[in-house]
Amino acid sequence: MTLEKRSLSALSEALVELERGFDGLPAHEAELSSSEFGRLRSVLLELARRLHDNFPYPHPLYAGQMLTPPHPVARTAYALAQWINPNNHALDGGRATSALEKIAVGEIAAMFGWREQLGHVTSGGTMANLEALWLAGRLAAGKTVLASAQAHYTHSRLSEVLGLAFESVPTDALGRMDANALEQRLARGAVGTVVATLGTTSTGSLDPLPRVLALAKKYGARVHVDAAYGGYFGLAANLEPYARECYDALREADSIAIDPHKHGLQPYGCGVILFRDPSLGRFYKHDSPYTYFSSGELHLGEITLECSRPGAASAALWATQQMFPLVRGGPFARGLESCLRAARALYIQLARDARWRMVFEPELDIVVWAPREKSASATSARSRELFAAAARKDLHLALATLPRALLEPHWDGIEWDSSGVTVLRSCLLKPEHEGWVPRIVALLDEAERNP
Ligand SMILES: *Cc1c(COP(=O)(O)O)cnc(C)c1O
Repeated sequence: MTLEKRSLSALSEALVELERGFDGLPAHEAELSSSEFGRLRSVLLELARRLHDNFPYPHPLYAGQMLTPPHPVARTAYALAQWINPNNHALDGGRATSALEKIAVGEIAAMFGWREQLGHVTSGGTMANLEALWLAGRLAAGKTVLASAQAHYTHSRLSEVLGLAFESVPTDALGRMDANALEQRLARGAVGTVVATLGTTSTGSLDPLPRVLALAKKYGARVHVDAAYGGYFGLAANLEPYARECYDALREADSIAIDPHKHGLQPYGCGVILFRDPSLGRFYKHDSPYTYFSSGELHLGEITLECSRPGAASAALWATQQMFPLVRGGPFARGLESCLRAARALYIQLARDARWRMVFEPELDIVVWAPREKSASATSARSRELFAAAARKDLHLALATLPRALLEPHWDGIEWDSSGVTVLRSCLLKPEHEGWVPRIVALLDEAERNP
């Protein structure tokens, strides 16, 4: 595998430029001594060897979990900011990166059609959802949070942490929240918030957001959209009509969580939470005795649950969006379109082959399928074997366990001797995957024939 290195020369040049900004200060020795350098070098080489113990995430034959390499611009921007190590908790911890955070978050909000919002960078999707559910609880104390049975498992856990009642809504045969079941539950009352997922983590299914919004409005509930994985796909020009409607409805949500560290080319440690109503900032206000410069406007430290936060994450997000603006028709949007085509191509090729049972066509860029076996338990066992056999051929897939209710409408003539089935799952999150689908199919074929 070859790793990108050219960006390192731009990083060196940018470091010199960064240094120039602090030229007026009295000199102090910052360089490593020869012996320190020697130790650093050998520790780093040892680390490189230890890092061999990973699947090759940046390579297109890694088509397993939602793991993508950050773009070089994100990686180098993050590294550059580390020489200063700003803390976006407050303005005097990181003036420049606080300003960059506001710009970058504003650009993400604008992608959803929001001009005004309350939002910020978090350490990831879990924290972003935590903030949404925390405010959901403040706004509707004692009421229940609903999410689909295929929603991310952290919603029920976070509700527990926050002391909120949580119930899950069944999904339909396509892994989407069942709108009729949702309405029945809403009609029974005492629901504060419905969490709709745009892009479920296991199958990439899209909850029927226009229906969810209409029902929530009718019954007086808020809608939080967990778009941690799928949030960027509204930029793609090749969505199916159903998906397009879901993304077009996103602007009506009360809050949105999105993970730039999934489909936004960022290193880990980058989620975003957005609230449509900026006045919700009143709930975050605190007066810590260490609070920094105060200003009329709430600073970032006053609108986050986390205290210290890496300014470098916002530097990387801003730099990436400078290079890849979040616009339809641009290179970033075209990358997402490639991912959608890759998933559809993989689905079509596998669906033609009688050795596989498919589930449903991919809504985004995740494909799930399973070997055709007589029973549910044999399918699970064979999926695990194939997962390992493919890895030995350098094709890295993932496994997912799906409930019988989701699979049964699609699978004829199978003996149901277990309630869940382990299936193969592939997340085609890199635009390069499009060109690699034939190789992926060929390696899977080989793994199946001679493991
Ligand atoms: C990944 C994911 C999360 C959790 O986000 P982290 O960044 O891993 O904390 C939540 N919801 C969905 C839909 C996800 O795909």
